[in-house]
Amino acid sequence: MSNTAEKYPQRDEGKRFDVIVVGAGFAGMYLLHRLRGMGLTTRLYEAGHSVGGTWYWNRYPGARCDAESLAYSYSFSSELETEWNWSERYATQPEILRYAEHVADKFDLKRDIRFERRVTRAHYDDRSSTWTVETDRGDRATAPFCVMATGCLSVPQEPQIAGLKEFAGNLYWASRWPHQPVSFAGQRVGVIGTGSSAIQAIPVIAEQAGHLTVFQRTPNFSVPACNAPLDPAFVDAFKANYPAHRRNHRLGMGAGFGDLQIEPHPGGPALETAAGKSQTEIRALLEGYWRIGGANFIGAIADTMLNPDTNRIVADFVRDKIRAVVKDPATADALCPTSHPIGTKRICVDSAYYETYNRANVKLVNLRADPIDRVMHNGIRMKDGSFHELDTLVLATGFDAMTGALLRIDVRGSNGASLAQKWAAGPRTYLGIGMVGFPNLFMITGPGSPSVLSNMLVSIEQHVDWTVDCVEYMRKHGHRRIEPVPAAEDQWVDHVNEVANGTLFPQGGSWYLGANIPGKPRVFMPYAAGVGVYREICDRVVANGYEGFSFGA
Ligand code: NAP
Repeated sequence: MSNTAEKYPQRDEGKRFDVIVVGAGFAGMYLLHRLRGMGLTTRLYEAGHSVGGTWYWNRYPGARCDAESLAYSYSFSSELETEWNWSERYATQPEILRYAEHVADKFDLKRDIRFERRVTRAHYDDRSSTWTVETDRGDRATAPFCVMATGCLSVPQEPQIAGLKEFAGNLYWASRWPHQPVSFAGQRVGVIGTGSSAIQAIPVIAEQAGHLTVFQRTPNFSVPACNAPLDPAFVDAFKANYPAHRRNHRLGMGAGFGDLQIEPHPGGPALETAAGKSQTEIRALLEGYWRIGGANFIGAIADTMLNPDTNRIVADFVRDKIRAVVKDPATADALCPTSHPIGTKRICVDSAYYETYNRANVKLVNLRADPIDRVMHNGIRMKDGSFHELDTLVLATGFDAMTGALLRIDVRGSNGASLAQKWAAGPRTYLGIGMVGFPNLFMITGPGSPSVLSNMLVSIEQHVDWTVDCVEYMRKHGHRRIEPVPAAEDQWVDHVNEVANGTLFPQGGSWYLGANIPGKPRVFMPYAAGVGVYREICDRVVANGYEGFSFGA
């Protein structure tokens, strides 16, 4: 990785650009490429040393994508998708980071990026119709447009556990993992959390550690990844049809991972509903999906996220699987989720997660039965007085999702209005792209868009294209200012809620709702109608002359 701090030491002092972009993850990188293609001067600020966003920061052991590599990749360049070869069905974090670096080099992106710069303020000036953006390194730059490509899961949640700061052993955050290799050999390791990150890390840490204690508050449903090296013949066949696959990812009814008509699921065609089917038929279908692996399992019966009866059948199937794998019945029981419908917290995808609890060096502590009292310098003391001595503690405690990164920036719109105030009762946006009171400010995969309920690459490319096309349209028509009208934003917020309330999602107590952050307003943040429906709406807005937005000179 290049030492960008040395390479780009100079500060921006009052420089003017056409567009300022915040964040050099997959969204910011593609934005920069598209904006450059239009001949626009762009400055991109990024807090990390290099590109990759979430894949730059989340380097914990076992980190890999839970979306399949051939779908979780850029589609904007056929040359790129042809020349890049993924090695496994689910790419590891290092491989995804190599891909991000490859894209940055191929499209020569880094020359317009200032790394190790965290944006602290973004203020709009009505008189000049410009945004002024400042960083923690003293940069100050202006542009008529500002695009927030700050990611949905980029601000770690600091858990409120007494004594955490007193721990004198090695303390690691899954989402801020060191760049140097970490060894657990012979150590007594504790992991707090059992979400997607922990579920990937635990089997790998268990193989190295002397002893591993997993502190679990809420068990999650996890399906096997069935990861494997990609067969070159399959990859060739897939790539030969790449445009059709990509089209189906974009326009499909679901999350943008695949289209069953083009790629028939080897587990069989999905059922519309479980009603009228025998137990044997349903079990056989679920078994087929389970054996193929991956998050598509949740789509085996189409109304799983809508119908509590179907959901219970699918959840029972997974609980039976857990009990069949985990030998100790008390541990198996504790690992079985019962407090939320399956899929309402993001489904996890694992490699030998449940099997790990059969190892002699692994112990599960159920915090619901046995809560933590406090962390001490050498371990964790429980409320019942018992003590777990630890050399190393790993926190995989999640993120202040979707709104966290934006609210950490002092964003002020028209007449000095603050974003923090606007979102005090939860995020309000039009399409998850723009906001009333914040002219010429765009969000990539913002709250109110499919974002985290979708294949992020599909949603990122859609938002980037929409945003860049909008900027181009404005320049062509001499508009200097764009902003949603209040009625459009109100209706969109109502619609997002209405769609969510028609599903089981709000019952999950998940980070989708902000429920993992004490004091955060409980608002279901992503748009749950699927990427195809959403894209149609966004395209219609444009076809109707940017319906719901107002332009100003
Ligand atoms: P998460 O799903 O929010 O899980 C956080 C875990 O920490 C939960 O088990 C939570 O328990 C626990 N926790 C939080 N505060 C705690 C406390 N004070 N005491 C005890 N336990 C506490 O976070 P994550 O695992 O980082 O995953 C977040 C999202 O990132 C995923 O849902 C996924 O979208 C994405 N992700 C994707 C991948 C991938 O592509 N492979 C990998 C990792 C993450 P409670 O449930 O009780 O709050």
